[in-house]
Amino acid sequence: MLERERELIAAAARELSANGLVLGTAGNVSARHGDLVAITRTGAELASVDGADVTVVGLPDGQHLHGAFPASSELALHLGIYRRFDAGAIVHTHAPVATALACVVDEVPVVHYQQLLLGGSIRVAPYATFGSDELAELTVAALDGRRAALMSGHGAIVFDGDLPGAVGGACLLEWICTVFWRARAIGSPRTLSEVQQAEARAALAASGEGVRVEIGESA
Ligand SMILES: [Zn+2]
Repeated sequence: MLERERELIAAAARELSANGLVLGTAGNVSARHGDLVAITRTGAELASVDGADVTVVGLPDGQHLHGAFPASSELALHLGIYRRFDAGAIVHTHAPVATALACVVDEVPVVHYQQLLLGGSIRVAPYATFGSDELAELTVAALDGRRAALMSGHGAIVFDGDLPGAVGGACLLEWICTVFWRARAIGSPRTLSEVQQAEARAALAASGEGVRVEIGESA
């Protein structure tokens, strides 16, 4: 079931690992196909996963449909996003700079126009135990009107219409967090005004600019 999609999800997870956005088993990737969600399994080493490490569950409740292993422990978070937003793929990481900021700030303001590709300022969802329904609810709320959020004491989450967009968004989020961190280290970062943001959004829409990481299928 969804064999090619499962291979692509595994390839996306390996790509995130190769880019240093996930370490060991700390992260998960999913994609939606109609009423089906394919998601990396719990406990998978993301640097070396393959299609057999991707589990298929059903929407809206996450019933196990295919795969030898249980789904990721953050299944409730992924399902909550698919139920609430028009998402085609989701990436959750413990990327180091995003996670560091999530331990300190309540929000990353718009300091760079490319941040608007993720919806604007990046909210930090309050802390809750990993894998809990409470964490899913808090994080979904932080994503309102956005494609990315940070999770206090935990990590980062990004969704997009497809896997290349979600992986690209995860890379962009880590880059934005790095820029904000360095800017804050040397002074008070200037933020884009509402007018500047509106003009940049229009320019981005006109240019079709986006950050996508195309996913290879070979291990
Ligand atoms: Zn996590």
